[in-house]
Amino acid sequence: MFDQLKPQPADKILALMAAFRADPRDQKIDLGVGVYKDAEGRTPVMRAVKAAEQKLWQVEDTKSYTGLAGDAGFHSALSQLVLGDTVSADQIACAATPGGTGAIRQGLELIRMAAPEARIWLSAPTWPNHPSIIKYLGMPMAEYRYFDDATRGVDFNGMLTDLDKAKPGDVVLLHGCCHNPTGANLTYAQWQEVADFLRAKQLIPFVDIAYQGFGDGLEADAFGPRHLAKTQPEMLIAASCSKNFGVYRERAGLLMCVSQDAAKTALNQATVAFLNRQNYSFPPDHGARLVTMVLQDDLLRADWQTELEGIRNGMLSLRQQLADALRKRINSDRFDFLAQHRGMFSRLGATEAQVEQMRESHGIYMVSDSRLNIAGLNADSVPILADAIVEAGV
Ligand code: PMP
Repeated sequence: MFDQLKPQPADKILALMAAFRADPRDQKIDLGVGVYKDAEGRTPVMRAVKAAEQKLWQVEDTKSYTGLAGDAGFHSALSQLVLGDTVSADQIACAATPGGTGAIRQGLELIRMAAPEARIWLSAPTWPNHPSIIKYLGMPMAEYRYFDDATRGVDFNGMLTDLDKAKPGDVVLLHGCCHNPTGANLTYAQWQEVADFLRAKQLIPFVDIAYQGFGDGLEADAFGPRHLAKTQPEMLIAASCSKNFGVYRERAGLLMCVSQDAAKTALNQATVAFLNRQNYSFPPDHGARLVTMVLQDDLLRADWQTELEGIRNGMLSLRQQLADALRKRINSDRFDFLAQHRGMFSRLGATEAQVEQMRESHGIYMVSDSRLNIAGLNADSVPILADAIVEAGV
C-alpha cells in the first residue's frame, strides 16, 4: 500500500521557515510564516490566557468528553464576539473545531452534503489552504478577481463582474477582515454592496474570519460578517482563535451556520455535530475553554482587549514606519498602500526574482508571491527592508 503513495506538494510557507532556520546570517529577517511576533521576535502567551490557564488548572475537575459540537459556553461566547447582537442565539448552529482550518473543513463538508453541485468561489489570491482543501474534497471551485496589482487595493468591479457568473446556490468565500495574503480589504460601503449582490443573486456567503481585532479593532473588523448575518437568508462562518487569542497550537475554532429561519437551527446543529463525529468525534477543548473564560470574565476580557489593541497598534505603527521610510527613499507615495492595508499581511507586489534578490542580499524572507508579515518587523529592521525594496527595484 505505502508504495502507492505519491509525494504531495510541499507547503511553500513551511519550506520558507526551514530555509530561514538554515540561514546562518545574524541579520536575517523572517517575514514569512503567519504568526504574530513582538519586537523581540517572540510569540508570547497573552496575559489573560495565562491567567485563565492558571485558574483552569485549579478548578477543572474532569477531562471527560465535552459535547460532540464542543462546549455551549464557547459557542455563545465566540459567536457573540463575532456577530454581536445581530442575530439571536437560536439562529446559529455551532461546532467547535480544531482551529479555524477545522471550521473551514467542516463548513465545506456541510456544503458538500447539502449542495454537492455548489461551486465555491475564492478570491484571487486567497490563503492557499482554501483551494487545497476544496480540491482534496473534490468540490467544484472558481475564482473571482480581488487584488488589483496596479493599486494594491481591491478590484471591486472585477470582483462583482466575476461573481456575476456564479449560479444561484453557489458559495462565495470571503475573508471577514485582514485579507490573507494581500492586506487589502472591502470598505463598509463595499460590504453593503456585496451583501445586496449576494442576496439578489442567491449566493451563499462563507466568511473566514481569522484575524478579528488585528485590523481596525474587534467591532470594526466584524462589520462584514455582521452585516451579512443581518441581511442574508443563510450563511456560514469559520472563526479562528489562533491569532487574536494567541492560542495557535491549542487549535480553537468555531463553525457557525446562521439562518434567518430559526426552525432550521436544530437540523443544522445536529448536522455539524454529526460532521464532528465523522472526522474526530469530540473537538479539542483546552483552547476553547481558555477563550471562553477570558470572554466571560470582565477583568480578563478587559486585559485581553488591552493587549490585543497593543498588538494591533504596533502593527499599524510598523506599517506607517515602512511606508514613511519608502516615501523618504523614493520621494513618492507609491508604497503608501502599506499603511492602508490591514492585518498581519501585505502583498508588496514584487516579482519572484525581486523576492529572491531580497533574500540573497539582505536575508529577508517573505513568501514568493511577495506577501510579507508586518509583525516580523521592528524599528531596526524597517530601514533594512526599505533599502532592500528600493535596491531590488520593486
Ligand atoms: N483562514 C485564514 C485566512 C488564515 O490565514 C488562517 C491562519 N493561517 C486560518 C484561516 C486558520 O488558522 P488556524 O487553523 O490556525 O486557526
